Amino acid sequence: MITISNIKKHFGSLEVLKGISLVINKGEVVSIVGPSGAGKTTLLQIIGTLDKPDTGSVTIDGQEITNLSSGKLADFRNKHIGFVFQFHQLLPEFSAMENVMIPALISGASRRQAKEKALSLLDMLGLSDRVNHKPAELSGGEKQRVAVARALVNDPSVVLADEPSGSLDSKNKSELHQLFFELRDRLGQTFVIVTHDESLAELTDRTIHMRDGMIVDDTRKEQEQTVEP
Ligand code: ATP
Repeated sequence: MITISNIKKHFGSLEVLKGISLVINKGEVVSIVGPSGAGKTTLLQIIGTLDKPDTGSVTIDGQEITNLSSGKLADFRNKHIGFVFQFHQLLPEFSAMENVMIPALISGASRRQAKEKALSLLDMLGLSDRVNHKPAELSGGEKQRVAVARALVNDPSVVLADEPSGSLDSKNKSELHQLFFELRDRLGQTFVIVTHDESLAELTDRTIHMRDGMIVDDTRKEQEQTVEP
């Protein structure tokens, strides 16, 4: 579970987040939408411990993260959070398998453990015949699935995705979206996805609309009811 309480963030004189409070339950697939500049990526970066709010708190899996030292934050991030970015950000000189292994090795897994885990994830994502390919030898959809495998290698409880399907064509886009739901059903992760893609936002359990640094709407799909922010 992610609990965000009254976070505010400025960049210089610009107030980018104006007191965001939000609870995201375990296993929810949540989209964050809104116009450019609304503060979506800033919020995601703060949840992902890549940035700190000026005030307010963020608790993930019972751990208040806003006051952790940078060493502890990095450790927390490696163990609890997976990231998927618009441009996969795979390392070009390494194979698909090696790219997936890297976060596991950083977290202290042995080479054998990291390799086993990477191979099993790549197999689960339909890439067992691509494990030794380098990113340049993979299609856009395949690269993004490798990036998803890499995000999952340390069994994070939370996966954060920033425009994950932004660089994909419509077929790969819909396959990637499907994958998020399959993974949630299989592994129980919480997904928080920043997107401009209405087809993805429509599929998610819950859609949070941001505008001008605030949550202006928060709607759960199942009940089709608005949650008071
Ligand atoms: P988009 O949909 O275009 O990605 P967004 O809703 O994700 O937009 P953010 O990236 O969170 O918006 O940015 C919110 C505002 O904060 C923007 O005006 C942006 O220029 C500004 N901003 C973001 N990061 C920084 C930074 N590191 N330094 C200064 N200003 C920043």
